[in-house]
Amino acid sequence: MIEPLAPSDSGAVAYARFAQARSCPVLAVVDPSGRPVGLIERNDFLTRLASQYGRAVYGPRPVVQMMTIDPIIVEADMRSGDFAEQALKDAPDALLKGFIITERGRYLGVGAVIDLLRAAIVERANITRDLSELTATLRDSNAELDRQRRLAETVIEHIPALITVRSESTGRRLMINSAGLSMLDAKIDNASRAAGIDLVLSAEGGRRINQLETFAAQAQPLRPHDFVMEHGGDELHGDRRKGQKTLRVTRVPMALADGERLSVTLAEDVTEMRLAASRIEQLAHFDTLTGLANRAHLNARIEAMLSAAREPNAAHEYEVALLAIDLDRFKWVNDTLGHDAGDLVLREVARRLTAELRAQDMPARLGGDEFAVAIAGAKAAAIAETIASRLVEQLGLPYVLGEKMIYLGASIGIATFPADACDLVELMKCADLALYKAKADGKNTWRRFSASLRAGLDRRSLLESELRLAMQRGQFLVHLQPIFHFGCNAVSGFEALMRWHHPEFGSIPPATFIPMAEEIGLIDKMGCWVLHEACRIAATLPEHLTMAVNISAVQFRLPSLASDVARVLERWGLPPERLELEITESVLIGDEAQALRAMKELQALGVRIALDDFGTGYASFSYLQKFPFDRIKIDRLFTQGILDNRSSMAIVSALAILAEKMDMRITAEGVETQAQLDAVRRLGCTEAQGYLIGRPGDDVWAHLPQDLV
Ligand code: C2E
Ligand code: CA
Ligand code: CA
Repeated sequence: MIEPLAPSDSGAVAYARFAQARSCPVLAVVDPSGRPVGLIERNDFLTRLASQYGRAVYGPRPVVQMMTIDPIIVEADMRSGDFAEQALKDAPDALLKGFIITERGRYLGVGAVIDLLRAAIVERANITRDLSELTATLRDSNAELDRQRRLAETVIEHIPALITVRSESTGRRLMINSAGLSMLDAKIDNASRAAGIDLVLSAEGGRRINQLETFAAQAQPLRPHDFVMEHGGDELHGDRRKGQKTLRVTRVPMALADGERLSVTLAEDVTEMRLAASRIEQLAHFDTLTGLANRAHLNARIEAMLSAAREPNAAHEYEVALLAIDLDRFKWVNDTLGHDAGDLVLREVARRLTAELRAQDMPARLGGDEFAVAIAGAKAAAIAETIASRLVEQLGLPYVLGEKMIYLGASIGIATFPADACDLVELMKCADLALYKAKADGKNTWRRFSASLRAGLDRRSLLESELRLAMQRGQFLVHLQPIFHFGCNAVSGFEALMRWHHPEFGSIPPATFIPMAEEIGLIDKMGCWVLHEACRIAATLPEHLTMAVNISAVQFRLPSLASDVARVLERWGLPPERLELEITESVLIGDEAQALRAMKELQALGVRIALDDFGTGYASFSYLQKFPFDRIKIDRLFTQGILDNRSSMAIVSALAILAEKMDMRITAEGVETQAQLDAVRRLGCTEAQGYLIGRPGDDVWAHLPQDLV
C-alpha cells in the first residue's frame, strides 16, 4: 500500500508515488479526514487528474514535468477546430482519454472529447448559417470555406463518439459518423451510403442506434451553445458484467439556414469514467483490504435500520443489534509476523465473518482489528447471540499462514435497540462496553450489554485509582504455587503469583490488575515489590527450593533490571541460582538484540530465565535456538489439550528432545488430573505445576502433603 495523496500535494508527489511503487495501479486522493475524494490511475494518469482535484494535485507547475507518458496538451488560446484536426491526425486514441488545457505551459483545466465534438457541431451550424451571406459577399473566399467545412467533417467523422443527424421534418437519418459506427459495432449498408439519403443500417447496429436516438429524444435537449455543460445529457447504462458500455447521450436540436430542422444525437462512451467513479464510491464506503463496509457506511446503514425500527408500523419485535468484534492477540501477529501476515489474517477474518451471516446482515471493518456486524429485524437480539457464538467458534479456528498455523480468538460485545440504546451513538457505546466485558472475562467469548456494565466502566476507573494506592495500603500479597520435579519425585520450588485483596472489592485477579498496572505505568514498582517479597520468602525456605517470579514485558525492557535484581538478591541473601525469572514471548518481539542482551546480563548474575506460556503464542522453535532459556513452561491450555491432540503431543515430544540437547528443563503448567500428569511425564517434561499438585496459596510449604516434600 502506498501513501494516499492529499489534495494539497503537488503533481510531483503523485508522480513520485507512482514511480516508487511500480505495481500500484491507483492512487487515492484523500481529504484531511482521510476520506477519498478521487482516484488517479496509473494507466490514464492524466484523465483522472482531470477532475476537480486535478488542479489541486498539479498546482501551478508545468504539466509536462509530471508525466511518464506524453499527454495531449493544448494551449488555451488555440482554436478548438485546429486542435481537433491536429490531435485526430496525431493521436486519435489518446484523444479519447481527454486532454489537458494549459496556459503558457501551466495547468488550466481539462477537456473531454465531448467538448470538441460540441465545438465542432456549433462550428458546423455556424458555417451553414453563414453560408448564404458568405457566398454573396465573399465569393473569393470559397477556398477558406471549403477548408473549414472539411475540417468540421474530419472532426465529426473521426471524433471517438457517436453522432447521428436526423431531419425532423422527414424523419430520415442524414448522417452517422464512422467513429460512432465502430463504437457501436454497427455497419452502414453500402448501397444506402451511395444513395446518400436515409441510411439503412445492419439489423443489430440499427437496433442499437434507434434505441439511442429514442433515448436521446426523451433526454433534456441541449442548446447548441450549451457545449460546456458539465452534466448535460443522460446516461444509458449497459450491463457491465456483459462488457456493455455506459453511454452519455445528448440531443442537440438545430435549425439550418434554409429552415430545415435537424436533430443531432451525441453519444459518448463514459464506461471508464463511471468505472472510476464507482471505484471512488467503493473507496469511500468500503474497506480496501477486506472489501467489507467501512465505519461511515456501517453508521449510515445502522441509522437506516433504526429509522425503519422506529416506524409506527414496524413489525412487532423489530430490533436492531450491533456486534462489536475485536480480535484477541492480533497485535501480536502484526508485531511478530509482519503486516503482510496481519493483512492475510484480516482478510480471512472478513471471509469467515461473512460466511456466518445472512444476506441482510451488515458486516464492517472499523479499522485495525476491529470489526462489527449490524443486524435488524424481528428478534434481531436473539439472532445476534446465535451469530456471536458461531463467530467466536469460527474466528477461533487456526489461521494458516504459509507453513505456520496460528491461533487468534475474537471477543464480541452485543448491544440492541430498543432494549439497551435508543440511538446510534448509544448503541456503539453499549456494544463497546459489552466487548470490554467479554475481554475482561477472559477473551474469546461474547457478552451482551447489561445495565451493570455501565457501572462497570466507572468501576474500572475506580479500580485504577485504587490500584495506585494499593501498594502503600499494603493490599498486595504473594501466593506460592508448588512445582513438582519428576526426577526427585518431590516439590522442587514455587512460583510467586501476585494477589490483590481489596477491602471492598475482594480479591481482584492478576489478569485484571497486571495489564492495568502496565497501562498506567505502575508495573515497575509492583514488579519490584513482588521480587523483594518472593526473595524474602524464598530465603526463609529450605535451600533446595527455587523461586520463580513473573516479569512483565514492560519491566523486562528496563535497563536497570539486572542491577535491580542483583540488589534484591543481596538484600535478602538469596543465592542467584535459587531465583528464576519467567518472561513471555512478547518480551522477545521487537528489539531481539536488546532482549538477548538483557537475558545474558541476568544469566551472568546466575539467575535462570524461563519462557512462560509456551504454546499459546507463536511458539517458535527459532526463539528457543536464539535465546538461551533455562526452562520452558508449557501453557495450561496446551497441557490440557495434550491428551486429545496429536499435534500438541508431537510438539511437546519434539520440545523435550530439543530441551535435552540444549540443557533446558520443561515444566507443564495447569496439570489438573492424574492422566495429564502421566502424559506430560511420559512426553519428557521435567516438572509439572497445577491444581493437582497444589493451588497457589500463602504459606504453602508448611501445608504441603508429606509425599510431595
Ligand atoms: P502465569 O504466569 O501463567 O501463572 C499461572 C496461572 O495459572 C496462575 O493464575 C495460576 O493460578 C493458574 N494455574 C496454575 N495451575 C492451574 C491449574 O491447574 N488450573 C488452572 N485453571 N489454573 C492454574 P493467576 O495467579 O491468576 O495469574 C495469572 C497471570 O497473571 C499469570 O499467569 C501471570 O502472567 C500474571 N501474574 C501473576 N502474578 C504476577 C506477577 O507478580 N508479576 C507479573 N508480571 N505477572 C503476574
Ligand atoms: Ca508464570
Ligand atoms: Ca504460564
